[in-house]
Order: sequence, then C-alpha cells, then structure tokens
Amino acid sequence: MSSQAHIDGFAFDLDGTVYLGEKALPGAVFCLTELRRRGTRTVFVTNKPLESAGAYAQKLTGLGIPTPPEQVITSAFVLGRHLARHFPDLRYYVVGEQNLRNELSALGLQVVDELVEQSDKAVIDPSGIDAVIVAFDRTLDYRKLNTAYQALQGGARFFATNADKACPMPGGVIPDAGATVAALEHLTGRKLELLAGKPSALIMQTALELLGLPPGRCLMVGDRLETDIRMGKESGMRTALVLTGASRREDLAAATVQPDWVLENLGELPALLGLE
Ligand SMILES: [Mg+2]
Repeated sequence: MSSQAHIDGFAFDLDGTVYLGEKALPGAVFCLTELRRRGTRTVFVTNKPLESAGAYAQKLTGLGIPTPPEQVITSAFVLGRHLARHFPDLRYYVVGEQNLRNELSALGLQVVDELVEQSDKAVIDPSGIDAVIVAFDRTLDYRKLNTAYQALQGGARFFATNADKACPMPGGVIPDAGATVAALEHLTGRKLELLAGKPSALIMQTALELLGLPPGRCLMVGDRLETDIRMGKESGMRTALVLTGASRREDLAAATVQPDWVLENLGELPALLGLE
C-alpha cells in the first residue's frame, strides 16, 4: 500500500473501534489527535440509538478525544431526520428506549406508545399505529413485541434504526435490534422496509455530507466487516478494519468484502497513511 493514501476525511465507528464500554481502545486517542493535528476531517458514525449524538460526543471528549455533537452521527438521528422529511404525519410505535422516543418527538414526529399500551387486552388494537420502529432496546418485553406484531399484521410500515444482531459490551455481547427485526420478520413474513444505520446508504451519505469530501478521499474505519467495511466499500470509500471489536482476522477468509487495510488497533493508522 502506498505510504501516501491521499485521504482527507475519516469516518470512525465507535463501539469496538474507538472505545469499548467506558474505556478508549488502545491507540484511539493517539490516532484521533494525530489525524486532527494534520488537519484531516473526522466524523463518528454509530448504529447505537441508545443516547443522543451530544451524549456520545461528551463521552469521546471525556476519553480525551474532544468532539462537538455535530461530528457524531447516530442511527437514531439519521432515521428521525429521514422520517421527518418523508413521513412527517405517521403515528409511530417505537420498540426502543427513551432516548429514541425523545429524539423523534423533538423532530415533531408523533410517538404513540403510551396511547396504545394502555390497553390490557391480549390482542392490542393496532389501528392507531401507522409505522413500527425497531431499535436496540434493553427494555424489550412481550407486550412490545406483541404490539409491534399486531401493528405489522395490520399493515403498519416497518422501519429500524439498526439491524445489528448483537452489540459488543465489556465481557461479551448482548442482543441488539437485528434480533428483534428477525423475530418480527419471522412472525409476519414481512421484510424490513427501511434501515437507517450501517450498512445503509442513508447513514453513509449523511457521513459524507458532513465530511464534505468525495468518497474517494475518505476512509471508513470500523470493527465489523458486515456493516462498517461493507458500507465503506459500497459508497466508494477506502476501508480499514480494526481488530479490537467484532470481526477477527480469521473472519476475513470467508468475508464477501475485504478491507483495504487491517489494523491491530487505531494506533497503527497514522503511520499507515504516511502522516507520521
Ligand atoms: Mg463497532
């Protein structure tokens, strides 16, 4: 690989790439400090809808990577913005956590959860729901699954913030929105209509808009072959896989997309790009 890659914009995944839990991953602070010192543009792209962009920016700042909220793109933000532009009048049922409801409401979208869930009947009347939004939800329960199922059977639209099967946490992984999407697809025989998070073009376009650069001058850096690397490739960016999260070196042999670079951790990135 050439030592001068002519990359001026960087899109970083967060979990498993920049940090894990409450800790920065090895080389992350050095990498971001060095790239920014050289005047490159950096944005962060996460599928996690659990907190606002501002909260993730604050977390990065606390870890030694000072970041304004505008440089963080979440799947919740991308979905909310898309729905507010294209489907502003639908009544949304959210299989998700409070942050997502807050973000949608703040955009003027109608979230109908409480209204629907007041019913204690086993078969909930879905007539007040025009669309179901599935997200990472650590408060998922039978009532939510049933409500979403009834609404989808009744013809509601089917959207999701993200479709990751599981989410890496310190000590292991926990079920994520993809598991719920799969359950509802299995139950209804329907397919998800709109995915906001990686590897969708929607979130990638948002990142490229923010970077303000053509994809050929940008690098997508992430720990997951099937989302981060696939999305980067599909959008025409170059890609770097870091081995600090979900994907392992041995996964590369069977992967349908191959990254341009494979890094043990982010600390290797500046040298690789000839920035040192
Ligand atoms: Mg990740």
